[in-house]
Amino acid sequence: MSSQDKKTSGMTRAEFLKGSALVALGAAAPQAAEAAQPAAPQPPGCKTWSWETPAAPIPAAEIKKTVDTDVVVIGAGLAGFCAAIAAKEAGADVIIIDKNRTFAARGGHITGFGTKVHQQTGIKPNYRQIVRSWILWAQGRVKEDILWEFAHKSGACLDWVIDMVEPKGLKVALWDGYYKGPDYTEQPVTHFFYKDGSDFIYKDGVVAGAGNPVLLPALEQVAKERGIQVHYRTKAARFVRDGASGPVRAVIAGEKGEYTRYNARKGVIIATGDYASSNELKQRFDPFALMADAQIYFPNKCNTGDAHIMAMQIGGAMQKVEPHAAVIHLEAGAASYGFLHVNALGERYKNEDVNTQSKSCTKAFQPGNIAWTIYDADGLSQVKAQIDAGLGGGLFYGQTFQRLGVGFDLSAEQQILERDVKVGKVKKADTLEDLAKQMNVPVANFLATVKRYNELVAMKDDVDFGKRAELLTPIVKPPFYAGKLLSTLLTMSGGLATNTRCEVIDANEKPIGNLYVAGSAAGDFFANDYPTICPGIGHGRCITFGRLAGTIAAGKSIDTIPSLKV
Ligand SMILES: Cc1cc2nc3c(=O)[nH]c(=O)nc-3n(C[C@H](O)[C@H](O)[C@H](O)COP(=O)(O)OP(=O)(O)OC[C@H]3O[C@@H](n4cnc5c(N)ncnc54)[C@H](O)[C@@H]3O)c2cc1C
Repeated sequence: MSSQDKKTSGMTRAEFLKGSALVALGAAAPQAAEAAQPAAPQPPGCKTWSWETPAAPIPAAEIKKTVDTDVVVIGAGLAGFCAAIAAKEAGADVIIIDKNRTFAARGGHITGFGTKVHQQTGIKPNYRQIVRSWILWAQGRVKEDILWEFAHKSGACLDWVIDMVEPKGLKVALWDGYYKGPDYTEQPVTHFFYKDGSDFIYKDGVVAGAGNPVLLPALEQVAKERGIQVHYRTKAARFVRDGASGPVRAVIAGEKGEYTRYNARKGVIIATGDYASSNELKQRFDPFALMADAQIYFPNKCNTGDAHIMAMQIGGAMQKVEPHAAVIHLEAGAASYGFLHVNALGERYKNEDVNTQSKSCTKAFQPGNIAWTIYDADGLSQVKAQIDAGLGGGLFYGQTFQRLGVGFDLSAEQQILERDVKVGKVKKADTLEDLAKQMNVPVANFLATVKRYNELVAMKDDVDFGKRAELLTPIVKPPFYAGKLLSTLLTMSGGLATNTRCEVIDANEKPIGNLYVAGSAAGDFFANDYPTICPGIGHGRCITFGRLAGTIAAGKSIDTIPSLKV
């Protein structure tokens, strides 16, 4: 029996949650102590998820301070800063709270359709085609009106950010490393920010001088200059509704015994990121995500889904489409390129001409979830030819921040290979036998696989897996290399049910008054796979829906902003 469907003590789940909302600090009177409510008993054998149990009451005596403002934004990440700045622009007093001691920043690719950079470069992405492909990828299981909202407004919203941070010394570029293959094609919609002096080399999730680690400090500076307070080390713990089903009036946050009640006259915006660091939420909404070799998120795996749980405990719903999509890339291991991939049996198992998400997923089904990419002494020099043939999509770390018109940097790829050999991510050997032994795969199988692959290369026809001929490269010249492929769970892209007004809604699509969501905490944007055709869509939606949520929460109509009126 699924947890969604199950009945608790004769109640439906919706009724049960409604009951929980009554006790989730919904008291109208500030700092009133809550009445303790026993959790509803569960039928034997059914698992109870933590959000199905009413939140433990916070005694009034533990609330030491009250702060009044118009809009409270929970989360000092990209979505949170965009929401806060937009709310401030709309005339609201705003406070951001975050449980960490600093803002959250990672990666750097940002999707926007029809930005000023597109106008300057003369590139016109066909956004209608992109959205149609998106819907096709999702097999219709997304809210199309939210996608169109993004399509219409993401360009203006990214321009809005560009205008704020260019005076802080940041530059913006269009990314040229996207996938240009005939069957699988990404779009030139990906932007990133950088500072002069960056080497643009992506190492373990960061690039000195480029990406969101340079964007977020600039946004934080803008926010503070505009009078937005940022309260770090302040963890949101409970939402306070007016009664059982009234609007959200406050957030209680801070340390146990020393809580602060943040009263929000106009609204509370959840911008707390996704939940990839919560095994319980992954277990419930996408157990496949638990198969990733690694999981990174900085700072300190802050994406624990706290506000998802808090929202569900007062009646908010998760998106209806399940399972949620895990964003899994080959970030933790060696660069995969378009070379021969073999599994732990030393056998080839796929067409390697696919995006990194697809590679991570296929690898998960191999024996022991183990895979390697194999090339020879000429391998790296063939990477350029592979790129010219359209392969890409973040598979090449020297190319992750390749600017339009700057060209592929082979030396960057070489530096990364040398480092990876040194740290053992890539094995190097003078013979294929020795390489197989280092990889711990059956030597005879591996030799037969390489022999067969070289035959396909000579034939210029991959009759086994259908890889494009221009991506077939021989493995004949020592030294030989085997890069270990390791998948990394970056984010969970499913989230709280919402609508085009960024409201958190319940299972019947009814908004929880005054409660909004933006960024990767929001749902209904992705279905059961993460489409990689728009690299940077995660950050793109943080900016677009962060801005929309902030404006709407502050009580201003989006249509009064000329650049956002469609
Ligand atoms: C290594 C890596 C690289 C990535 N690269 C890209 C990329 O290039 N392009 C892209 O589009 N996406 C990328 N992503 C995904 C992307 O970073 C996220 O989807 C996006 O940053 C989410 O932003 P956000 O503002 O919604 O949340 P976050 O950036 O996660 O910010 C949420 C904030 O909320 C705070 N918070 C959480 N719970 C609470 C609480 N209870 N109380 C108070 N504060 C709380 C957290 O401390 C955090 O500061 C990458 C992810 C990883 C891990």
